[in-house]
Amino acid sequence: HEAQVNGDIAIDDISYTYYDSDQPVLKNISISLKQGEKLALLGRTGCGKSTLLQLLTRNWDPQQGKISIDGVELPKWQEASLRQAITVVSQRVDIFNGTLRENLLMAKPEGSDREFSKVLTKVGLETLLKGKGLDTWLGEGGRQLSGGERRRIGIARALLHDAPILLMDEPTEGLDRRTEQQIISLLIEHAKEKTVLFITHRLVGLEEMDQICLMDEGEIIERGKHTEL
Ligand code: ATP
Ligand code: MG
Repeated sequence: HEAQVNGDIAIDDISYTYYDSDQPVLKNISISLKQGEKLALLGRTGCGKSTLLQLLTRNWDPQQGKISIDGVELPKWQEASLRQAITVVSQRVDIFNGTLRENLLMAKPEGSDREFSKVLTKVGLETLLKGKGLDTWLGEGGRQLSGGERRRIGIARALLHDAPILLMDEPTEGLDRRTEQQIISLLIEHAKEKTVLFITHRLVGLEEMDQICLMDEGEIIERGKHTEL
């Protein structure tokens, strides 16, 4: 049986230093998000945003402080349950050598071809469905995707993986403005009931967020609502 995950996130006073560095990249970060709440994290390049996301997905562990989901500290989570609880749109989308279908199945192992075609059309990748369709080989020895196409595959995966927590790291980087607006609307609609952490340096979608945090050099230097900042 699988327990229902609500998606409460508690980041409690964490600090993190990379092993090859003597300077912490995250300093005393605390963020609390109840189920369904949405937070945008802004800050200039190198301030530590993606690092925070890596800690949330337990790729690395903070040297200080703790992170809990639904009140359970991350180290206590089983890997599979954590993967079920969180959807990530990474700053870099990994496409592996395999068919288009296989590149989507990782997000939804029980997904059908019909569902995959539908979601690809939603994210504006219907051209990929021409010719060999979902059997199109991607990656080495296959079709090389453009930066924008890779992004859209990342978004399609997020739309397919229906988890209570959605973490997005610059999901629309490199897309033109009109496409960006469409994609953000899609994601926000999809995440209506979900807990969201949205890393961005653009100003699209911020009015949908409950909190906005501004980071600088590993610290949160300002917090508030869209209208306050
Ligand atoms: P951007 O907006 O450019 O994506 P960011 O806010 O996401 O930046 P991070 O990627 O979290 O920034 O990087 C924060 C700091 O940590 C930077 O100084 C970066 O050089 C450093 N850093 C990132 N990844 C590693 C790593 N794997 N090993 C060592 N240092 C790293
Ligand atoms: Mg980053």
